[in-house]
Amino acid sequence: MRILITSALPYANGSVHLGHLAGCYLPADIYFKFKKYLLKEDAIHICGTDEHGVPITIEAEKRKISPSELVKQYHDEIKDTFEKIGVEFTHFSGTARPIHHRLAQEFFLNIYNKGYIKKKEEQTLYCESCKRFLPDRYVEGECPHCGSPGAKGDQCEICGRWLDPASLLSPRCKICGGTPIKKDTFHYYFLLPDLEKKLYDWLSKKDYWKPNVLNYALSWIKEGLRARSITRDMEWGVPVPLEEAKGKVLYVWFDAPIGYISSTKEWAEKIGKPDLWKEYWMNEKVKMVHFIGKDNIVFHAIIWPAMLMADGNYILPDNIPANEYLNMGGGKMSTSRGVAMWVRDYIDKYHPDYLRFGLSLILPETKDSEFSYDEWIQNVNNYLANNFGNLVQRIITFLQKHFSGRVPDRKDPTELENRLLETIKQTKRNYVEFMNNFKFRDALKSAINLSSEANRYIDFAKPWDKIKKSRENAGSVLSYSIAVINSLRVLFYPFIPFSCKKLGKILKQDDLDINILDNPFIDGTQIEKPEILFRKIEEVEVMEKQRQEKKQFVSFKEFSKMDLRVGEIKSAEKVPGTDKLVKIFVNMGNSEKTIVAGIGDVYEVSELIGKKIVVILNLEPRKIKGILSEGMLLAAEVDGKPVLLVPEQDVPPGSIVK
Ligand SMILES: [Zn+2]
Ligand SMILES: [Zn+2]
Repeated sequence: MRILITSALPYANGSVHLGHLAGCYLPADIYFKFKKYLLKEDAIHICGTDEHGVPITIEAEKRKISPSELVKQYHDEIKDTFEKIGVEFTHFSGTARPIHHRLAQEFFLNIYNKGYIKKKEEQTLYCESCKRFLPDRYVEGECPHCGSPGAKGDQCEICGRWLDPASLLSPRCKICGGTPIKKDTFHYYFLLPDLEKKLYDWLSKKDYWKPNVLNYALSWIKEGLRARSITRDMEWGVPVPLEEAKGKVLYVWFDAPIGYISSTKEWAEKIGKPDLWKEYWMNEKVKMVHFIGKDNIVFHAIIWPAMLMADGNYILPDNIPANEYLNMGGGKMSTSRGVAMWVRDYIDKYHPDYLRFGLSLILPETKDSEFSYDEWIQNVNNYLANNFGNLVQRIITFLQKHFSGRVPDRKDPTELENRLLETIKQTKRNYVEFMNNFKFRDALKSAINLSSEANRYIDFAKPWDKIKKSRENAGSVLSYSIAVINSLRVLFYPFIPFSCKKLGKILKQDDLDINILDNPFIDGTQIEKPEILFRKIEEVEVMEKQRQEKKQFVSFKEFSKMDLRVGEIKSAEKVPGTDKLVKIFVNMGNSEKTIVAGIGDVYEVSELIGKKIVVILNLEPRKIKGILSEGMLLAAEVDGKPVLLVPEQDVPPGSIVK
């Protein structure tokens, strides 16, 4: 089976937060890993940054950099975050690239020529002092529906309605604060009503979709679709490929989903098979699955399929398993409101699998879910460290101790072992069913249950007692136990890939085929020395604290690099044009050094001469007020004023201080 998986293109004006990860990228990655590595299907995972639109140009203007610099920064950061958290893409592109511009223009022209796009004269807001049209968020005003102030040109965040900038009451230019005028212009509209019937028929066959997604999409159609403006008067974006449309670009929501195609195309070119993308996008046998958050449903279940239908060259989505929201402290996480927990904050401090695991257990699959830090810690400690981690640890340690790490041969299964093997089979069936139906939480729980079952089996079978009487019997228990661990390595892989890879190294197994569960035994394998797979969060935090503290110590080796010596001040003079600086010549025994010191407001030049002081001699020389200072003298700081350190007895210049 060939599967084309996409994740919503992250908008390149902010970092990735936990809400994004749980809403879209983590489930997409779990599904991709399951299909590609466990089922060995021909799956690709396509994404890239969404780099156009008004929020980007506004942010770039605020920072006084170009939009392309801004999107480059965020593209790199977002890509890096995904790599570190283990979200794997076949290709990760960006919509500002030429390959995307070309494809988006072709797409536009094709459906324009087919009559699905019409030009419409209209009035939009124009700022005379800024000399520009004010699309979308370049204008704010009162919402014409609910009267809330601060409604943006494209949407009122209070009542949630989409707006047309020209409909705002008392509009203001976002840049200069001035009152815009209405000016004649024209825009291109995508004729959604022409595709309404076709969309409805298509959607009615999607009874296998998540009810929240399907019902939402159908309710939109029932309200009746309206033609949508798909162009803007601005510079940053994909230029409308028509002679008459100079100065206009495609609306970001029109060009962004085409990014799924252009990213696939770029991937195909990169791997030297430039036509390979067609095997996915133009092949009716391919199943296309869009992972998105629920705020994207209308675009992916209505507008995007309508665009694809109008174009006619490409396949339509097979499924859109949109997630609900992950909340924290009661509200939706969002970059624009600043209520967020950044993924970076976690991966700097904890193992990425801890976050993946904790989020996988609370994915907002059917309703909003709540992220709680305490619950996360509990889940990681209980399930990862105590349950799975402990299982692996005690079996592998025992195996090392009594069998030098060689997995012993098993005997015919006892009743207990027959039950265990049956549980593995049953778990495989349930797990595959859950995963294929986007029920990732249930799939993970089924794996956790198998791990608990294995712990119970070992508690009953007591290999540590058996070893006293019969090596063979104890060895057999280990063989069955390792078989379950090997099964769990496969089942857990989509959720905690880093740890399962590590476990695979220990067991010398790298295949992740789900069918390993039909025969998970690795009798006779000489395994590697065990490593602790999971620590409790408290231990991680203590280790992190120690690491931080350690960083503040200076090693003796570092200290001994400093050449500290006693010197005698031979002469001193004020540095002209300064209050504090004094230039002094210091006899260091074998040499004389010039030092510029900030002590002139406390010490008179005359009282300095003849003083013995402590000097760091091998400090990098530095020019101060044009004078090369070849060292630094040591002084205590008292109420912000220097007090020179002097030897308690008379010592010859050049004496080493240590
Ligand atoms: Zn409103
Ligand atoms: Zn203005």
